[in-house]
This record gives sequence, structure tokens and C-alpha cells, in this order.
Amino acid sequence: MINIKNMGRVIVIGAGGVSTVAVKKMAMNADVFTDIMVATRTKGKADRIASEIKNMKVETAQVNADHADELVALFNAYKPDLVVNLALPYQDLSIMDACLEYGVSYLDTANYEPLDEAKYAYGWQWAYKDRFEKAGLTAILGCGFDPGVTGVFTAHAAKHHFDEMHELDIVDCNAGDHHKAFATNFNPEINIREITQRGKYFENGEWKETDPLSVHQPVNYPNVGARESYLMYHEELESLVKNFPTLRRARFWMTFGQEYLTHLRVIQNIGMASIKPVLYNGMEIVPIQFLKAVLPDPGSLGENYTGETSIGCRIRGIKNNQPATYYIYNNASHRAAYEETGAQAVSYTTGVPAMIGAKLFLQGIWKKSGVWNTEEFNPDPFMKELNEQGLPWHEQFNIDLEL
Ligand code: NDP
Repeated sequence: MINIKNMGRVIVIGAGGVSTVAVKKMAMNADVFTDIMVATRTKGKADRIASEIKNMKVETAQVNADHADELVALFNAYKPDLVVNLALPYQDLSIMDACLEYGVSYLDTANYEPLDEAKYAYGWQWAYKDRFEKAGLTAILGCGFDPGVTGVFTAHAAKHHFDEMHELDIVDCNAGDHHKAFATNFNPEINIREITQRGKYFENGEWKETDPLSVHQPVNYPNVGARESYLMYHEELESLVKNFPTLRRARFWMTFGQEYLTHLRVIQNIGMASIKPVLYNGMEIVPIQFLKAVLPDPGSLGENYTGETSIGCRIRGIKNNQPATYYIYNNASHRAAYEETGAQAVSYTTGVPAMIGAKLFLQGIWKKSGVWNTEEFNPDPFMKELNEQGLPWHEQFNIDLEL
């Protein structure tokens, strides 16, 4: 009997908007993803994703990913080659623990964050490097768009267009309209925690802090035009300044409309963005978690979403002893994303890179023992896949970077 080893056996944890896209795209790459399981807290959500995939059978399971022992039991039963974590940042460490205990590689799209403190730092996950290395396992961190593609774009720029990079500005514009008074484009709790924290950027070897959303200016986005862009802290800045030590300055900018900011201000002022539990009718609830329950589900925004996202990296540096500027970006249409996967472009731009990272791992192309950020792998195969899997990129050279 010939023993054929299936190298594409994947468990995806979580069944939200990002998972919906990633799993559907995996099924479109069924030559690599030969077996897929979606395991999540509410099994019905995984069942719904599975039912929408017609070209292969996707298995589903219920699991609470806060509990490593439940995960290990699931891994023992399914025997995956890779675990793709598309649940929430709170589960990163328990899933990594379970991966080490069972002996399977790991990929996620957002860095670990403790539930009781809105703090974005890679330290917790980088601390697993030795253990993954010794076990001969790979962990790919932050493989969505930002973080994820932004790291790959920066690595591509460093490899092909600069001798030395000096200044990096990551610019993230959502010029879409979901026709709701207020909604967030991915998990509201994670999103609001991220946006309301203090701003932070890297300059001349040190981190500088700003009041939340206090630094802003208009920036022109291709096919969109000028949009007010706000300086924020974003997790990939931490790994990028470490992995590209010639960077003298690294910043992250995101666009917000006035309507969104007004809602956000009210939410904060009335205490609904708080992560501290309060007593309500004798039981403890966390205001921001309750808020999530009443806001539109990001997964439901796709149907009437118009417009597009535009995310990219603007870089200054030196090429052939001359100052050089460079801009690399992707624009993604909410409608096109919805027509292809049933999800809007923010889920799409995260789920597609997660699938690509998983694919390159399974093919043995992005596979090395240890814990890595996306910019630490060869960008070339990833850049090729982006063009082929629905996220084409464009480059501009020696332009006015505005920032
Ligand atoms: P959703 O809230 O839509 O989905 C999260 C899923 O995880 C839900 O199915 C939820 O289950 C499940 N889940 C939560 N807790 C547990 C648990 N303890 N055990 C098992 N399953 C659990 O989020 P999104 O799809 O919008 O986002 C997914 C991830 O992608 C997040 O970590 C987010 O930060 C990240 N992200 C990354 C981006 C990037 O560019 N890098 C951009 C956007 C998002 P249930 O439905 O039962 O609650």
C-alpha cells in the first residue's frame, strides 16, 4: 500500500469575518489545503462557513481556545500540519502552548494582548522562540495585512529597491461606506482598544508617545483622494524597527471619518470603551464586551459595503548613493471582496494573506524553526501569491511621499 502523506492538513481556529475569507481561499487552493477543519467557540458559525464551501468537505468542531488542554485533545484527534489562529489576540498564547505540547506549527494575524490590559507587544510571543526552535516548529506571527503584508512590502522594498531604508510610513485608508451610523470593520472590542490607546512612533532610536489620535494630516490615496490620516501605534512597528535597524523613523497612519470619531468620542465619554468589569444587576460585565454585542457584526457589513481600502508603505532611503522614495500599496474593493467570499474588504485583506502564509508554510517555502514575523521570510513568493490570490500590488518610485 502506498502511504501518501497529506501535507495540507490545517485547523483554523475562529469563525469570524477573517476566518470566513481565509477558509474559502484555502478551499480555492485545495491542491495544497487537502484537509481543513474550522474549530471555534460557537460551532454553528464554523458550520455556516463549511456549508458555503462546495468543492471539498470542511470539518468543524467546538473548542474553547483559552484552554490549551482542549486544543491538545483536538489536535490529537485531527493531527494537523498547521494551526491557523484566526480567533482573538487573547488566545495566542494558549494556542501556542497547545501547538508546542502536541508538536505542530502555528500562524496568526494579531499579536498577543492580555484581556485586562490594552497593550500591544510582541515580547510575550517572541519569548517562545527557543521552544519552537528546539521543537523544530515554525510560528509565523501577524500574517494579515497590517501586520503581515506591510512587513512583506517592507522586506520587498529592502531587498529590491533600497541599499538602506531610513523612514517608513505605513498608511491605512478605508474609503468604504457600510451605510451604518457606526460599525467597526473587524472585532469591535479589539478595534476600539487599538484606536483609543496612546499614539506611538519610532524616531532616532527611541519611541515617542502622542495623545490618542492627536497628530493628523491629509494624505492622498490612489483612486481615493485626500483623506485625514491619524498617527497611531500599530504592532508591526515594533518588529520592523528591530528587523530593519537602519530605519530612523517608523510611523503608522490610519484614516477615520468625522462621523466615526464623534461616535468613538461619545462611546469613550460615557464609559462604554472601558475594559474594566462593572457590576450590572448583580453580575460582572465588561462595558466594551457589552458594546460589541450591540454593534453590527463586522461579518454582516459586506452586503452593502461600497468603496475600497488602500494600504501601503511609503519609504525614504538611499539607492545607488542617491536619495530615493518609494510607495507600494494595494487597493481592495469591498464589493469585489463580498462577491468572491461574502465578506468585506477588511476581512478579505486579512484572510487572504493568512491563507498565503499558510500555503507557503505547507509548501515548505516559509518554513524555518522558531518564531518569526513576516518580514523575516523571503518576500518574493508571497508577493507573487498576492498578485494571484486577489490582492495585487502597485509601486511608485521617486514621488512626493507627503509625510
Ligand atoms: P471576529 O470577532 O469576527 O471572529 C473571532 C472568532 O474567534 C469568532 O468566531 C469567535 O467565536 C472566535 N473566538 C473568540 N474567542 C474564542 C475562544 N476562546 N475559543 C475559540 N474561539 C474563539 O474577529 P475577526 O474575524 O474580525 O478577526 C480575527 C482576528 O484577526 C483577530 O485577532 C483580529 O485582531 C485579527 N485581525 C488582523 C488584521 C491584520 O491586518 N493583521 C486586521 C483585522 C483583524 P464566537 O463567534 O463564538 O465569539
